[in-house]
This record gives sequence, structure tokens and C-alpha cells, in this order.
Amino acid sequence: MSVVVRLLRAASGSSSAGGVPPGGARAFRPSGGRRALPGPLLWLVLKPAQKLLAVLVGRSLRRRWRALPPARRRSWRRRGLLGAAVLGGLAAAVHAARLRDDPLAGRRRLLLFPNERFRALAQMEYRMWKEEFGAKMLPEHDPRHATVREAVGRLARANRDVPGLSDFDWVVHVVEEPSVNAFVLPNGQVFVFTGLLDAVSDVHQLGFLLGHELAHAVLGHAEEKAGLARLVDLIALVSLAALWALCPQDGPALLAQWIQSKLREYTFERPYSRMLEAEADRVGLRLAAKACVDVRASSVFWRQMELAAAARGKARLPRWLSTHPAHADRAERLDALIPEAIRLRESCACPPLSGPDPRLVFRLSVRQLPDARPAEGAGAGGPARGRRI
Ligand SMILES: [Zn+2]
Repeated sequence: MSVVVRLLRAASGSSSAGGVPPGGARAFRPSGGRRALPGPLLWLVLKPAQKLLAVLVGRSLRRRWRALPPARRRSWRRRGLLGAAVLGGLAAAVHAARLRDDPLAGRRRLLLFPNERFRALAQMEYRMWKEEFGAKMLPEHDPRHATVREAVGRLARANRDVPGLSDFDWVVHVVEEPSVNAFVLPNGQVFVFTGLLDAVSDVHQLGFLLGHELAHAVLGHAEEKAGLARLVDLIALVSLAALWALCPQDGPALLAQWIQSKLREYTFERPYSRMLEAEADRVGLRLAAKACVDVRASSVFWRQMELAAAARGKARLPRWLSTHPAHADRAERLDALIPEAIRLRESCACPPLSGPDPRLVFRLSVRQLPDARPAEGAGAGGPARGRRI
């Protein structure tokens, strides 16, 4: 994967983002023909320079601090605390001013970037992905492409009443790649890997997974993630300068900087990513229910993934290390949501669910495979490398 694609992925919210549906996407229209880098990408490109500047400022402050007489140090300490309080207040004010109620998510969300800018970024990322995958993209007449396109189309038609969903024109791309993976860009470009198509047992599992991706897009997870990351970046830059100013030498300052970055990653970024994934599962299940998908298949998919990981002897990461919820956690949460999703499905005049419950079928199948049965408590494992589902 090229460096540019990595940058774009990070700027557009990294993990899963986006949604899914059929045919032509709402064509991208650059705002006023400007060729400047979109804000989120520009911010990302300048990030290393910002960090370096924060370190240099911190070191410079440290030298000046040492040269100060004790009386002036007390005075500057008070000013420093006051400055930190003002900055904290400003960050809180920006946060509060940009919070929006989101009935679909059932919570208040922070949206810092204008949609047009973000879609410009998504369009750039789309071009990069097209270049990256090149000849691996299946033609539209391929039956696998048609299957995904139809599933996405059903979801889109059945959920036209969902706020924001009709703003997207969804375009499907199926990529010949063995990874069990799919993602959607914030402009509605849906990428599904053939490895995912091989991993699902039926169209119902596929329908749920596409509903999950669609939910990411409609909920604007990529925009939200990027906006929040920028706010956290600002706070981190100030605290980085403070670390370098307060540490007596460069060695402890470097160590403190490393600890700060890890704290940020494991106490904020990863839990936040897991929360967005769980939200996309919840909303995606509802979208799938309205499209008459057999929602009982949703948890079976994640149990299959759990079983496959256990059969491969894949090491299980602690939950807190992962950017995605553990397979078993996802399956359990979905099981709890399925009764309500079935009621929603029934209210949409869908044909009644037929055949045995796929969860029961799966459990019976696993009993016949004692060697492949996951150990007690299995499934906390991390996602497949690079998984974005
Ligand atoms: Zn996801």
C-alpha cells in the first residue's frame, strides 16, 4: 500500500468508514474547482512538523525556565496554569459548539469538518484505491459483483427513510483479494474483497455486513473520527511542548512522549474505534432487518470468524489492544439485538423467516467438530490484519 494511500486512509478516519449501495455515486463536485489539499489531509501532512515544533518550543522553554530567578518562576508557573486552563476551556467550548444530536446513533456527535471537504478527501482516496487495486477490481458483469450490488441496492431501497442515506449514490467495487475485508469511503464508494465473499455462508450474512458498512457512512463515522482526532492532536501538541519544557533532560522527555502517545492510543483511540464499530453493528442490523435480511445470520458470521481464528491457532489479543470488538463480543451483542431486529423486520412486511434458526444450525455443526471448537473465553482476539469490517 502506498504512503499516499496510508495518509489518505488516516486522514479520512482510518478504519471502516463509509457506506454501501448500488449504482452510480452522487458524482463528486470539487468545491469551486480549488486544487488545495483538503483540510484533514493537510493537517496530517503537517503533523510531523507540528510535533517537531512542539518539541523545539518545549526545549526552548526549558532553557529559559532554568535561567529564571525563583520569584519569576513562581509568577510564570501561575501564568502557565492559567494558560492551560484557558486552552482547556477553549477546547471544551469548541467541542460543545460542534456537538450535534444524531437520532440514528442515539447520541451527540462531534462534527468538525464540512462535508464537502471530507468528500473531496474521500474522492482522492478513491482514486488512490483504484490505482492500488488496479486489475484486481472485478468487472460489473462478474456474478460476485452482481451479488454485492444487488444486496447493497436492497439495503438502500429499504432504508430510504433513514436520514442522510438518500444523500449517497452508492458504487460497488469488488476486489480480488483473499482478505476477509470490506470498507466504504465517505462518498459512498463500497469496496468488498472476494475473501469476504468466500467467508460468508449466505446472502443474509453478506446483507448484514453490508448494512454495517452502510451504517458507517450514514453515521459519518469517518468525519467524526477525523474531527475528534484533530481536537485531540491540538491538546496533545500543547501537552507535548509542556512535557519537553518540564522534563529536566531530553531522555526522560522522550520517554514521557512515548508514554503519552501510548496512553492516547489505548485509552482513547482504540476504545473509541471499538465503540464506533459496535454502533455500526447495531445500526447496520436495523438497516438489514428493514431490507428483509435474516438478521439471525449476523451473529453466526462472527461466531464463524471466531471458530476459524481458533482453528488456525491464532493468538488472541486482549480486548483493549484491538481497534475492533472481539468476534465473540460482537456475536453476543448481536444476539441481544436480534429479537428487536426481528420485530422490526416483521413490521416491514417482509416474508416470514423460514427454516431452522441459523444460530442453532451453527451450534449443532460445531458440536460435530470438537477439535475446532474454540476454547472457553475465546474470541477476544484482534481482527485480521488490516480488517476494516
Ligand atoms: Zn466497521
